[in-house]
Amino acid sequence: MGLMAQSVCTNLLAQLAMNKFREYEPKKCWVGDIQKICYSSRDEAEVAAKVAQYEHGGPELGVYKCEYGDHWHLTGNRHDK
Ligand SMILES: [Zn+2]
Repeated sequence: MGLMAQSVCTNLLAQLAMNKFREYEPKKCWVGDIQKICYSSRDEAEVAAKVAQYEHGGPELGVYKCEYGDHWHLTGNRHDK
């Protein structure tokens, strides 16, 4: 087993990890120059905001309807409006 085989194996694992990650990756859309997670309803976004606040102990997060599609986003980061 040379370096070659080792790197192929590593790439394969990385690809598998990527695929697994992709399965759980939520839908996102670009808002300005950042990508934000889309929530299909206001309720869903509000639950996500509460979870994020609880997990990160951050400031209160708001929710707003996306101007580019029929879904909702969280707001509260300094990059957001
Ligand atoms: Zn959006």
